[in-house]
Amino acid sequence: MIVAVPAARIRARDAGIVLILLFLQWHFPLRRQNFGVLRRLVRNYIVSIPGFVVVRFAMLPIPLAVAVWAQNRHFGLLHWLNFNACVTAVAGFVLMDYAYWWWHYANHMVPLFWRFHNVHHTDLDMDVTTAARFHFGEMVFSIGFLSGTLLVFGVDPLIFVIFFIIFEAATCFHHSNWRLPLRLERIFNMIIVTPRMHGIHHSIVQRETNSNWGTIFCWWDKLHRTLRRDVPQDKIDIGVAAYRDEHELTIGRLLVLPFRKQRAWRLPSGEFPEREPRPASNLAE
Ligand SMILES: [Zn+2]
Repeated sequence: MIVAVPAARIRARDAGIVLILLFLQWHFPLRRQNFGVLRRLVRNYIVSIPGFVVVRFAMLPIPLAVAVWAQNRHFGLLHWLNFNACVTAVAGFVLMDYAYWWWHYANHMVPLFWRFHNVHHTDLDMDVTTAARFHFGEMVFSIGFLSGTLLVFGVDPLIFVIFFIIFEAATCFHHSNWRLPLRLERIFNMIIVTPRMHGIHHSIVQRETNSNWGTIFCWWDKLHRTLRRDVPQDKIDIGVAAYRDEHELTIGRLLVLPFRKQRAWRLPSGEFPEREPRPASNLAE
């Protein structure tokens, strides 16, 4: 029961956030979209169904059970450090986001993980529906990552649930195609990952994809010098260089994509997409 209630609430809350972002990105679009929203929405949500099942029955309950176990046995860094409750809670939340930075990095750098994360990146437009487009295999690997992280840091189970809710909302927000006023987004981007910042992570230019790994806070990319803010959104081609044909990216093909031979990061023409970096401290338009 401890698991069922938060999971159901998280899904309902997510649905509300998605509807609001769908409305905002429809009224205030950021990037010009190449394909119809409805068609991509249907494709992305059907692809995500097995992943939702994994999240509901394993990716949330198993790590949560690990966190409860660690709490009961006083196991993990934050239990041993014995700070006051407030510091422990904040540290647990921030450490989870930092650990996720490394997990996202690993999803790009470890060939086995990339096979699955590639499905997410092959979307030829990016909007709030892209936030659901994850192969269930990536969710299965995430169970091990989350359980290990919660165990090592000894994160409180309640903090993990709160983190998970905010993590999902942040993922919907930074994938959305919502054009925030640039000055406002630059202020947000002093702390959090924003749609323009994450748009650069979905570029077909590999150096740009290999940047901006953060989910909630943008500090980790600053810390690791992987923060890239120099590309205007109208100059970005969204997707993966070797997968440019939407007929190759149907629901069935996306689900088997990780088990097929992976293509090198080259355009179908054989070209390697490039762009000169222009280091910028502020987000480009
Ligand atoms: Zn990624």
